[in-house]
Amino acid sequence: MPFSKLGLSDPLLRAIADAGYATPSPIQLQAIPAVLNGHDLLAAAQTGTGKTAGFALPLLHRLSQHSYGANRPVRVLILVPTRELAAQVGESVSKYGQHLHPKLKTEVVFGGVKINPQMMRLRGGVDVLVATPGRLLDLIGQNAVKLDKVESLVLDEADRMLDMGFIRDIRKIIALLPKKRQNLLFSATFSEDIRKLTTGLLVNPVKIEVAPRNTAAETVEQIAYLCNKANKAELLCHLIKTNAWQQVLVFTSTKHGANRLTEKLNKVDIKAAAIHGNKSQGARTSALAGFKAGEIRVLVATDVAARGIDIALLPHVVNYELPRAPADYVHRIGRTGRAGEEGQAVSLVSHDEVGGLKLIEKLIGNAIKRQQVEGFEAAAVAPPMPPEPPRAPRPSRNHAARKPAAATGKPGAATGNAKPKPRSYARTPV
Ligand code: AMP
Repeated sequence: MPFSKLGLSDPLLRAIADAGYATPSPIQLQAIPAVLNGHDLLAAAQTGTGKTAGFALPLLHRLSQHSYGANRPVRVLILVPTRELAAQVGESVSKYGQHLHPKLKTEVVFGGVKINPQMMRLRGGVDVLVATPGRLLDLIGQNAVKLDKVESLVLDEADRMLDMGFIRDIRKIIALLPKKRQNLLFSATFSEDIRKLTTGLLVNPVKIEVAPRNTAAETVEQIAYLCNKANKAELLCHLIKTNAWQQVLVFTSTKHGANRLTEKLNKVDIKAAAIHGNKSQGARTSALAGFKAGEIRVLVATDVAARGIDIALLPHVVNYELPRAPADYVHRIGRTGRAGEEGQAVSLVSHDEVGGLKLIEKLIGNAIKRQQVEGFEAAAVAPPMPPEPPRAPRPSRNHAARKPAAATGKPGAATGNAKPKPRSYARTPV
């Protein structure tokens, strides 16, 4: 079915044509009519399925049916887990709404950058607000934004928001919204926590489930190189150089590991940059831009930082370390071979990770090809690792920090509605 049959207005169809979308993706086919009709939505979908247009297009259509003139209150609120996803969703919403008249205003707010410019931008009112939960609460605490006219709420990548400890913030935000509203929830996975969140939030939701655009085996060639832990950096340099890989996204399990690997790559003239929660927003944005433009050959990322980043046609993804959760393997390699292009997902697997590799194979229901590279073969028994250089102490990852004082047994339990403290991303898990 073409986009023109879904009930979207002409200015939106023009924007779709500008974006070069020929036909709706499966999630768009199901989500657009449901959202246009005002239904709640429960969608199992991850990045790469076209979910952003799936909710943004019909919400823009509904918004443009009536205007609030100059005094524009937030009418669509989109909550997302990370700054990168916030920026990306904001860009998409602006792009899809570019031909609407009168114009709708979209703003994006997230933590890790100064709050004042965001307060200024919100002053004239906005129609669509894309926000990470912590910064939104800070802005509400500063009276910079009101949510009492919100007509539609979107929780994007809800599972990741819960993983990052945002549940309390989300509940606080929901409590500030009008009771009567439309709710859309997107999540790649459905844990018990997500189920709890959806109960009481969604009213008779339309349920949508779509397979990720690349399920693990389809367009992505997967290889596991068995090697010694101590040789991983050298092996990676060898693979990049001998195969002349030009654009490689590498996942490490820690921020510290990402920094160390980036240094090593740069030392051997492979231009690399790291992207993780301890990097400033400026550094992250310029690393991503440089990578997209082809100026940076290797982007080294942790899972949370990379989540939701949409890079068209990424040819190579490397698991420098296997992810702790097998499901993250599917998220990681889902970034290659976008839009039907072939991609390659390479994992460097040391002795201690062979068990993890087996769990991943069980999850994806396929065996992953094991190979060895001459000169970098895995020893029969794991050799001892050389001692690591000393490292700075890690920031606490104790999620209790976000729990109410009552739950932690600390004083101050009664002041549950205290003004939110400014947040830093030091608590962002790797
Ligand atoms: P998302 O899952 O929303 O992150 O979208 C993934 C990518 O698919 C983005 O680069 C979109 O621009 C692109 N996209 C979304 N809808 C379509 C479509 N109907 N046809 C082609 N590409 C699309």
